[in-house]
Amino acid sequence: MSAADFLDAPHLVEFREVVANFLREHWHLVKGEGRLAHERSFRTLATSKGYLYRNVPRAYGGSEQPADVLKAQIIQEEFTRVRAPMEVSGGGYGMLVPTLLACGSEWQKERFIGPTLSGEIRWAQGYSEPNSGSDLASIRTKARLESGQWIIDGQKIWSSGANEADFLFMLARTEPEAPKHAGISYLLVDLRQPGITIRPLRQINGSEEFSEIFFDAATTPADWIVGERGEGWKVSKTTLSAERAGFIGAAEGSMTLHRKLLELAKQCRFNGEPAIHDARIQDRLVVLEGMVNAHYHNMQRQFALRLAGQEPGNVALMNKLIVTRIASEVADICKDILGDDFMLSPFGHEGHAGPEKWLNQYLGSLGIAIAGGTSNIQRNVIAERGLGMPRDPASVS
Ligand SMILES: Cc1cc2nc3c(=O)[nH]c(=O)nc-3n(C[C@H](O)[C@H](O)[C@H](O)COP(=O)(O)OP(=O)(O)OC[C@H]3O[C@@H](n4cnc5c(N)ncnc54)[C@H](O)[C@@H]3O)c2cc1C
Repeated sequence: MSAADFLDAPHLVEFREVVANFLREHWHLVKGEGRLAHERSFRTLATSKGYLYRNVPRAYGGSEQPADVLKAQIIQEEFTRVRAPMEVSGGGYGMLVPTLLACGSEWQKERFIGPTLSGEIRWAQGYSEPNSGSDLASIRTKARLESGQWIIDGQKIWSSGANEADFLFMLARTEPEAPKHAGISYLLVDLRQPGITIRPLRQINGSEEFSEIFFDAATTPADWIVGERGEGWKVSKTTLSAERAGFIGAAEGSMTLHRKLLELAKQCRFNGEPAIHDARIQDRLVVLEGMVNAHYHNMQRQFALRLAGQEPGNVALMNKLIVTRIASEVADICKDILGDDFMLSPFGHEGHAGPEKWLNQYLGSLGIAIAGGTSNIQRNVIAERGLGMPRDPASVS
């Protein structure tokens, strides 16, 4: 039985109609000037009706709905169908809000969650350092408490969107004498201050998605700490699991990617024939189809477990790996069809399907295998937490 079968229940068909009516009445695409304001007021209305921010209490600006995976699924399908905006994207809602809800103090929830949901304030994540990525607990950026504020010195790297963000949630070493996992605190920091320099990193495709952040006696108030002093490692795990869940994506994303690749293979010529006629390309497309089906069925398993009120555990952990494998395989087949030069050309060639998009897909496939913990680390997590195997010696100290 698939998710679609559950969604046929009469009360859910009725719910879908109510959502569709709401969208017909209140949502239309606005381009150019006024788009952001229109999206913002639409989000506020959709939240008041219970369609967005369902997991966030009303007191902090959410719609506080009972957990209902079937209704959530219908909302997502209907909003996506008419391209209506859902929750604001980025680390604020995706990572910090779940962390504050689980570990933040009351004043932090009241002060930060509402403006984050409305998009009024934007957040970046300051975890990685030049020598601390997978081994995150080895971070060296320090914070010391002096006269009611933290004084921060050090450097972060690969901070997505930091050059456009207002605030940072970061890890800093506050107890230099403690064992490495026990010496870390989770701090919130205003990025607009003289002690902070943000230097964007130029990527191969010309964009500047990430930044280095330098802290030179930067400050943040003593109570801008989430959780207890020295317990930042525990707090950061809440953020990391929210980040990894954000990569999962619905299986529809993988299916669409697969469909587009098939279209490309039909359109492009390879050894004088349409690429889809080439036996080697056919082989690869069939294997890819198997992976996409695996993703679909894994999502169904996850859905069924949630429906039964159980934690998806290992099944959910596997999804980031599946998405990563599919993205990388699609990019690889695409390179086979189009050739390396074509993939890397910023302008592409006339007459082929969406070269810019394929280039971005290829570059994105490299990033997703690293962001939020590399695939190797994800395998370690599955082995240790999911299968109960012995811990990776590299992470024990
Ligand atoms: C798209 C993207 C967005 C990002 N956004 C942010 C952000 O907003 N904020 C932020 O703080 N960081 C961000 N990062 C950084 C990311 O978290 C790190 O790149 C990642 O944790 C890996 O760290 P590293 O680059 O230092 O690689 P390393 O840790 O040096 O790893 C190098 C290689 O060694 C392997 N390896 C390391 N340790 C082990 C082990 N124990 N077992 C097996 N293999 C191992 C890794 O798998 C990898 O292949 C982002 C990265 C990307 C690609």
